[in-house]
Amino acid sequence: MTTTSVDCPLQCGGQAQRSPIGWRGYAYRCPTCGGSFELSDGAQADADRGQLHPQAIERARQALANGKHPRIETGADDKRTTVIVSGAS
Ligand SMILES: [Zn+2]
Repeated sequence: MTTTSVDCPLQCGGQAQRSPIGWRGYAYRCPTCGGSFELSDGAQADADRGQLHPQAIERARQALANGKHPRIETGADDKRTTVIVSGAS
């Protein structure tokens, strides 16, 4: 598994460690945000264009602040962005 250091897609201004997780997209760990999270391929494509939905970023950061492990997904068909918050990371 290849881990690369990239600008945090949650736009915290920090550097995050990104690892591909196959068809599920990418896993991130960001010390500035204080936790780990995931982006789907669609959400990653949005983030690469700087078009990740601001509300998705906000929800993911809130989840991280609460010790959760959020996953941001953007559907390829309807471009709807959702944030899935599962248990503690
Ligand atoms: Zn961050």
